[in-house]
Amino acid sequence: MKMYDFLVIGSGIAGASTAYFLKEAGYEVLVVEKNTVCSGGSYGAGAFLSPKLSKPSKYKDYLNDALGFSLDFYQKNFPDLLKRVSLHKYPFDERDYKKLQSYEKFIDFEYEKKDGFFKLDFAGFIDPLKLTYALLEGIEVIENFEVTKENLKTFEAKSIIIAHPNQTIYEEKYLKTKNIGGYRYDVSFEGCEKKNFNSHKDCSISAYHEGKVAIGATYIKEINNLEKDAKEDKYNLLQKARNFFEMEKLEVLKYYTGVRNMSFDFFPIVGKLIDEKATILKYPYIKNGSKVPTSKYIYHDNVYIHTALGSRGFVYAPYNSMLLVDMIVKDKEIESHLSPVRTFLKYIRKA
Ligand SMILES: Cc1cc2nc3c(=O)[nH]c(=O)nc-3n(C[C@H](O)[C@H](O)[C@H](O)COP(=O)(O)OP(=O)(O)OC[C@H]3O[C@@H](n4cnc5c(N)ncnc54)[C@H](O)[C@@H]3O)c2cc1C
Repeated sequence: MKMYDFLVIGSGIAGASTAYFLKEAGYEVLVVEKNTVCSGGSYGAGAFLSPKLSKPSKYKDYLNDALGFSLDFYQKNFPDLLKRVSLHKYPFDERDYKKLQSYEKFIDFEYEKKDGFFKLDFAGFIDPLKLTYALLEGIEVIENFEVTKENLKTFEAKSIIIAHPNQTIYEEKYLKTKNIGGYRYDVSFEGCEKKNFNSHKDCSISAYHEGKVAIGATYIKEINNLEKDAKEDKYNLLQKARNFFEMEKLEVLKYYTGVRNMSFDFFPIVGKLIDEKATILKYPYIKNGSKVPTSKYIYHDNVYIHTALGSRGFVYAPYNSMLLVDMIVKDKEIESHLSPVRTFLKYIRKA
């Protein structure tokens, strides 16, 4: 059997973009997917590429950096798949309106204040399925194979990238994240071809593209009946969309469901996989708050993780992949707010 440099487990946007950057860096990569390419949360995504209006924070800086990087990356490498359109950001209610107004002084990109909304040009959307296939072009992919701790050795690879949520291959409790479900409806309505901007309120409505407009939202805590709930529109997503955008003769062409996955602080988890048991065994006092340089932690040999992309996987994944591959190739440290170190420390100090 062929020896690969990297085995990437999962072919959503995290796996596909990591595989792409590894291939570009000259590595032999194998991607293994338990279903078919892009069949997890990425399949359901809008995939809106949107900025955030908020107070200054590390998270906002990260989001803006990632959005700028990803828009450039998509424009340069996949211009046909990227649709650059402006975003009309509406407040949810009166309280949210006041909040958005107070954030105006912190907007650090081009915008226009309109009657009741902000028009932001630093935005767009991309076709998730076509993008994932395009990223994986020229990379070997095995579908319909679920990698488990028992069968991991089926593939010969020098390093492993875990690129799927809720992984069970390595028993690391500090990687526990939260799942939130969502739907997307592809719809048509009278005059829909004239909609040439994205709008966000309590749901997102895309610009018209290739015969349809996408309506999406992800805030559903009960994820066991997503398929049925989407079919019946249990959470009235279509009505919510109609409440702020007129859609006469609305027709649902197709619907998608999916689960997104997030960490306790909303930042993704990207970097070397820490071996919790071995690290604690060697430095038991770390649990009480003593500092141990991260270079001294015990890591799983050549195992990396890229997950917990939350509601903006298509914004974050190319940027994270670039950082991860820079860490691997140039030995650059990963930004501390992304590193698994933070979830590890939080978990062991609470346990
Ligand atoms: C309805 C909805 C709308 C969204 N809208 C947007 C949006 O507008 N913009 C945006 O940026 N983000 C959006 N998101 C969020 C985005 O989709 C996620 O952040 C992103 O898809 C996460 O990508 P991922 O690669 O980590 O996981 P996934 O897409 O879930 O990919 C993981 C893959 O790994 C495979 N896998 C799992 N376990 C194994 C295993 N053991 N062996 C092999 N393969 C395995 C799965 O089958 C899957 O294909 C939305 C999400 C949903 C659900």
